[in-house]
Amino acid sequence: MAVLKYRGQGKDQSFVTLATNDSYVKGALVLGSSLQHYRTTRKLTVLITPQVSDLMRKVLERVFDEVILVNILDSGDSAHLALMRRPELGITLTKLHCWELTQYSKCIFMDADTMVLSNIDELFEREELSAAPDPGWPDCFNSGVFVYRPSIETYNQLLQLATEKGSFDGADQGLLNTFFSSWATTDMSKHLPFIYNLSSTSVYSYLPAFKAFGANTKVVHFLGSTKPWNYTYDSRTKSLKGEMHDSKIVHPEFLNMWWDTYMANILPLLEEYGIIKENTTAVNTAEVTEAVSHMSVSAAAPPPPSPPAPVLPALSSLERKQRWEQGQADYMGLDSFDNIKKKLDTYLQ
Ligand code: UDP
Ligand code: MN
Repeated sequence: MAVLKYRGQGKDQSFVTLATNDSYVKGALVLGSSLQHYRTTRKLTVLITPQVSDLMRKVLERVFDEVILVNILDSGDSAHLALMRRPELGITLTKLHCWELTQYSKCIFMDADTMVLSNIDELFEREELSAAPDPGWPDCFNSGVFVYRPSIETYNQLLQLATEKGSFDGADQGLLNTFFSSWATTDMSKHLPFIYNLSSTSVYSYLPAFKAFGANTKVVHFLGSTKPWNYTYDSRTKSLKGEMHDSKIVHPEFLNMWWDTYMANILPLLEEYGIIKENTTAVNTAEVTEAVSHMSVSAAAPPPPSPPAPVLPALSSLERKQRWEQGQADYMGLDSFDNIKKKLDTYLQ
């Protein structure tokens, strides 16, 4: 059942992702399954760290051609030495391991919180380092999707830069933008169109552009603190319940696509491996799903019933801006879809 493998050509090229724990594995599985759904001819590779459970590794093997364990804590390893000096760069250094995959001539790295909405194999025609602009600072590329050439030399140079200079944002994106610093100015063919890495937040930050071009989206990226697997999905109503700040999700189309893929292709695999109990009669699917989405939280208590919405003190526009930038928009109130639209309409008139 489940996932068929269609790949034949392009054996020396691969899509690559990373998951350091079972929560991000869920993202990686949805990404891998979306790449298969759109019949990529390239290989699928996932890098994992020892925190990923054995059962989840088995599930990953059903979707990915290669499941590769990377361990940044191997003493003697140059990454280990870098980590001793820059402990804050743990996950960043883990991502750099993708340059070690020299069995491939070219790869496309994709964050585990991305999914494809069409075949994107044409990206293998691009050169290192090709990536789309970051919505927060468009002179930097976003490191959630990038084309690169595995090379031990590049890997070592990146580690050296990490050790000596660190990263200006404490993560891989800052480091990679410093290393590939000519990206912004030299070669437009290395600027991927934004539709290859559309951040879900851009829907709100530039709604008219989203309305004009959003239908062409090829890759959606759920960047930010709330990932698709942090929501609760009700399979009866096919709707999502937000857990964090947004009690109602405006424009849930992309999140719904993520969950549809998860329910159709991943949940059956998790059931097959006994990670999720199969349709126990006493438990309806919605409850099973809820259990899945809380799976990463050990001994998670069921969420308490939602209290009535508190009456919040009015925020200053600076506070509101800060919350917005932290992804804590007040989607039900001041920042609601209707209010944003009204504001945009006044600008456009
Ligand atoms: N990642 C991971 N475990 C973590 C954090 C990150 O495996 O605890 C990997 C995963 O592939 C993720 C990528 O690193 O997609 C970048 O992190 P994230 O997507 O959370 O950052 P954002 O895109 O929100 O800035
Ligand atoms: Mn991401």
